[in-house]
Amino acid sequence: PPEDLGPDKDRVRVVVRVRPMNNRELERNERSILHGEGENSVTVQGAQHNRRFTFDTIFAIESTQEEVFHYSGIKRLVDMSIDGYIATCFAYGQTGSGKTHTMIGPGGANIFRMDENVRIKCFGLVPRAINYLFQRLREKSQETTTPYYIRVSYCEIYNEQIHDLINPAHSQSLQIRGSVEDGFYVENLFQTYIETMDELLTILEEGELNRAMASHNLNDTSSRSHAMLSIQIEQDISGEGTTSTEQMTRQGKLIFVDLAGSEKVKVSLSKGKQLTETNNINKSLLTLGTCISALSDPVKRAGHIPYRDSKLTRLLAESLGGHGITLMIACVSPASSCENESLSTLRYANRAKNI
Ligand code: ADP
Ligand code: MG
Repeated sequence: PPEDLGPDKDRVRVVVRVRPMNNRELERNERSILHGEGENSVTVQGAQHNRRFTFDTIFAIESTQEEVFHYSGIKRLVDMSIDGYIATCFAYGQTGSGKTHTMIGPGGANIFRMDENVRIKCFGLVPRAINYLFQRLREKSQETTTPYYIRVSYCEIYNEQIHDLINPAHSQSLQIRGSVEDGFYVENLFQTYIETMDELLTILEEGELNRAMASHNLNDTSSRSHAMLSIQIEQDISGEGTTSTEQMTRQGKLIFVDLAGSEKVKVSLSKGKQLTETNNINKSLLTLGTCISALSDPVKRAGHIPYRDSKLTRLLAESLGGHGITLMIACVSPASSCENESLSTLRYANRAKNI
């Protein structure tokens, strides 16, 4: 197994992507309140706030999917996952800020129905990272004779209930088992071994379709659920550098999480079931922020890390532990009507980075 990374600034990378104004915002002649300054600063010049934030990279409205892939740091995550680390990429932001666009592509599942040329250009970070992963594995397998095994699962956490996105029929709410020490896992979550990039893309497509379907039936749950794609990369390294005949495997993971919309639903407006749901989302996002910020801070690291406070963080305990590195993509709208939400996203992202 690779060495423990310890509290290190390089373990948490935070980038911001500003989407272009949408038609509704343009029709209302809204003012843009976010302005990039250089490559890594962004200023908010709103009616109520004037603030400047610094992140690892800012992707301005004209940035392309390809640029986000090249400059977000995702390639390092893929490389580290091959080397046995747990690499996790999150998309955070209010509903409509561009999380799914950035992760999968415009229209989520719809991208797979586009003409091939268009599709390749529009593909978001996940399909591009999958392509890169297979490219790297092909290169690596010329250096070593031990094969890699790839195992995939895809689930959704909605209102603290876990559902399988690959095999939705089997999914009542699934249970989490395990412990902080031994790792948590979802009992009975469908996992499948895949061999080619196309097989993995097909799983992604099916998962996105299932996600969209659930959201249609249950009144847009997709904005209120976290979707988590987990790609486990295993290699048998028994022969490497040891004379032992004991079987040893290197196990890394590449995880993508399209988080629930971060918007504050006014508690006064939500009642009963919806109120529980709102509280669950707020709590899991808050806990996630606390856990990520502890990754790069030795003082927080030594204290209590509240993994147990939400299903999301329990499942991500490994990602947030000694072998985890993370990339957070904070998505924001530049429109003046989104001032409070954009500011709250930037604050959250800033806290994750501990600046
Ligand atoms: P979220 O997943 O955060 O709710 P979406 O990714 O669905 O948001 O984005 C909302 C809408 O804005 C979609 O129609 C999407 O295609 C569009 N959009 C988001 N980001 C961009 C971008 N960078 N460039 C062009 N359109 C975008
Ligand atoms: Mg979305």
